[in-house]
Order: sequence, then C-alpha cells, then structure tokens
Amino acid sequence: MIKLKNPEQLDKMRIAGRITAGALMVASEHIKPGATPLSVDRAIRHYIEKEGAKPSFLGYGGFPASACISINDEVIHGIPNDKPFRDGDLVKVDVGAYIGGFHGDSARTFFCGNVSEEAKRLEEVTRLSFFAGMEKAVVGNRLGDISAAVQEVVENAGFSVVRDYVGHGIGSDLHEDPELPNFGRAGRGVRLTAGMVIALEPMVNVGDWRVKVLDNDWTVVSLDGSLSAHYENTIAITENGPEILTKI
Ligand code: MG
Ligand code: MG
Repeated sequence: MIKLKNPEQLDKMRIAGRITAGALMVASEHIKPGATPLSVDRAIRHYIEKEGAKPSFLGYGGFPASACISINDEVIHGIPNDKPFRDGDLVKVDVGAYIGGFHGDSARTFFCGNVSEEAKRLEEVTRLSFFAGMEKAVVGNRLGDISAAVQEVVENAGFSVVRDYVGHGIGSDLHEDPELPNFGRAGRGVRLTAGMVIALEPMVNVGDWRVKVLDNDWTVVSLDGSLSAHYENTIAITENGPEILTKI
C-alpha cells in the first residue's frame, strides 16, 4: 500500500532530507586517499546525531554502520572498514537520517583522488539517468515512465542497469511501497499522484548488470568485477512537479 504524505508530513520529510544531504556533504569532505571508510562513517554518524537525528541504516536489518560505503566494483551495501581509500577509487556513499518520524535516503558516487575517464563517465551517466527519471516523476505519469527513462539513458551510454535492487517509496519506513525499478516500460505501473515520496536510485554497472552478494551477507558487487556507480535522492511528487528533499 502506498502511503501518501500530507503537507505537514512533507515538511517533516524536508527536515530529514536536509540532514541526509548534509551527511553526504560530510562524506565528500572526508573521502581522500589514506582516509578510511570507518572514519567517514564515524564523521557521518557524528553529524547526523549532532543534528538531532538518527542514522536510518544503523541496525537496519542488522547493518552495523551509519552509512553504506561501497568501492569500485562494489555496487551497494558496503560495510565501512579500516582499509584506507586509494587514489583512483570510485566511492559510493549511501546514507539516511531519521527525525520527526520520517526518513531521508540519498546516495552519491565520489572520486577519490584521480579516477579513470571511465569512472568519470560512469558517474556522469548515472547522475544524468537519475535526472531523466525524475523528469517523469509528475502527477498523471506512471511509475514505468520513470523506470524506462533511467534505463534508456544508461543503455544508450553502453552501460547496464542493476536489476536485483530497486528504488522505493519512503516515509515513516525507510522502504515503503511502491518498488521502483531502474528498468521497465513506459506507460506501465502505478499512476503517480501528489503526496507520493520515492527514493529514485539508479545503480549502474560498466559491464554486465548481474551482481552477487559477498560472504559478509551485505556487500553487493558486480558479477564481472566492472565498476559500478550509484545516485539517489528522496523525491516528493507534488502538483508543481518533483521536489528533491535531499538536495545538496
Ligand atoms: Mg539509499
Ligand atoms: Mg534507497
């Protein structure tokens, strides 16, 4: 069941979204060669708690950290560790903040030092696919219009969309209905209405779309070992068009 948000609830989600966006700013300041994912995670947790919020991911399904930090061929759900970042790493940070009864959820792909041209292009295409999808997040369209727009940008660039993990509704729960795949057919799926809030999050591989989960039962990696990127925002669908709640 899709839980629509009223104006008062949307105001609360704006606060959660602002803190979530701030956490990604903190991440961007801390990611550099020699720093560790654990140190970035600690800085994110400190920031979120200082803002009076709780890290949405900490303890979620048993997840042991405040942010997912996934490097190079890791797609999502990387567990922060003490292995230093290296020059050229492609670093995905996914984070959420919970306050006032609502969650924000957002992810970015950061460049650690000097990354390859392929990594830069992958990040750009992933980001552009998000905005192509968001353009379709308007009242009267269908969910499949968003999915198809994301897929088209990604596949036109010669990359592939991860299929096993999808975007989602968000609100008082981190993951709500509906599921929002990054692939699909225009004109299909649920009709979009004002008050829907969704986390649109393309996960894009340079190579094949297939993924596997590592032995830690969390970290998802591309099956062929190719680079992967991620871009996510929490978006409210309003009568005036889509509104990014996690705007940086
Ligand atoms: Mg996320
Ligand atoms: Mg999400």
